[in-house]
Amino acid sequence: MKNNCPKCNGTGIVKEEDGSVHTCWDCLMSGDMDVHSDKVADSKIKI
Ligand SMILES: [Zn+2]
Repeated sequence: MKNNCPKCNGTGIVKEEDGSVHTCWDCLMSGDMDVHSDKVADSKIKI
């Protein structure tokens, strides 16, 4: 994830004013989130 992300400050999690939290879409779309990391692709290749 982006360490300088203005929305999540590099945490990958965005806190809304109502207290709810969700994945930072900016980091997700940029491909920096762990859920879409290269490790996932590697595991598929091994299978
Ligand atoms: Zn972010």
